[in-house]
Amino acid sequence: MSKAEVWSGRGPARALRAAVKERVERLSADGLLTLRMIRVGDDPSAQGYARAVQRGCKRVGVRAVMDELPADSSTDDVVEHVQALNADAGVHGILLGFPLAGQVDDAAIVDAIDPAKDVDRLTTAAIGELFAGHTTTGPATAAAVIELLDYYEEPIDGRRVVVVGRSNVVGKPLWAMLLARNATTTVCHSRTVDLPAVTSKAEILVVATGSPGLIGAEHVGGDAVVVDVGTTYRNGMVLGDVEFDAVVERARAVTPVPGGIGPITNYCLMRNLVELVERRSH
Ligand code: NAP
Repeated sequence: MSKAEVWSGRGPARALRAAVKERVERLSADGLLTLRMIRVGDDPSAQGYARAVQRGCKRVGVRAVMDELPADSSTDDVVEHVQALNADAGVHGILLGFPLAGQVDDAAIVDAIDPAKDVDRLTTAAIGELFAGHTTTGPATAAAVIELLDYYEEPIDGRRVVVVGRSNVVGKPLWAMLLARNATTTVCHSRTVDLPAVTSKAEILVVATGSPGLIGAEHVGGDAVVVDVGTTYRNGMVLGDVEFDAVVERARAVTPVPGGIGPITNYCLMRNLVELVERRSH
C-alpha cells in the first residue's frame, strides 16, 4: 500500500458547488446571473475550457453565453466587444477563453474588462487589490488550491509552503493568497537553482508549471502535502507536473491529475461571479 493519502478534488468541488448554488439562487430572484465568455477563433483548448465553464454554470444555475469572435479579429475589435459587455447591465461577469488569437494583445484585452465584471480576477486592478491585501479573492485556480487545503483541514497559518511556477494566473496570486493566510511562501521558477533543495523543505508543495513529471520523489519531503496543478494534454491523456507513482510513496498526501485541482476550479470561478454581484448590490 502506498504511503500518501490521495486527496481527490471531487469532495471539495461538490461541497463548493452546493454552497455556490445556494448563493446563486438567492441572487437570481430578479433574473438569472449571466456570464459572457469571449473566444477568438476556434482554438481547441479554449473550446474545451468553454465547454467545462458551460457545464459548471449549468450546475449552479448561471446563464452562460459564449461569444465567438472571428479568428482574424484585431485587439481593437476584441476591446470594443469587451467594452460593449462592460456597458450591458444584463452581463454580470466577463471571461476570456485563452489562448486568444496570436495577433491580439492579451494584456490590453484583459485590462479592458471592467474590474467589477472580471470573474477571473486577472485585470491589473484585481491583482493590485489582492496584492495590497484589500481582498482575498483571486484567480480561480489559485483559489482552488486554498479550497482543497481547507477541505482536507490542512493548516496554512505559519506553514512553510513552496510554489513552483510564477505566472499571473496561478503562482503569483497564490503567493499573495497564502501570505494573507500567514504562510511563509517561497516561489520557484525555471531559473531557480537546485529546485529539489528548495522544494524538499516544503511542508506544502504546490506545483504549477506545465512540465509533466517535473517533480519526483527527490523534490518532496517525507511529511509533505503535494498539490499538482499541472494539466498538460498529450496523446489523449492529461498529465500532471508530479511523478505520481514515485511521490505517492514518499509524501503524506498528494492530489491526482486528473481529478484534483481541476474539478474545484470551475466552482471557484462561479464563486467569484457571485462575489462580484454581491459586492455591487451592497
Ligand atoms: P505558465 O504561464 O506557462 O507558467 C509556468 C511557470 O512554471 C513559469 O513561471 C515557469 O517559470 C515555471 N516553470 C516551467 N518549467 C519549469 C521548470 N522546469 N522548473 C521550474 N519552474 C518551471 O503556466 P500557468 O498558466 O501558470 O499554468 C501552469 C500549469 O497549470 C499548466 O499545466 C496549466 O495547464 C495548469 N493549469 C491548470 C488549471 C486547472 O484548472 N487545473 C488552471 C490553470 C492552469 P518561468 O517564469 O521562469 O518561465
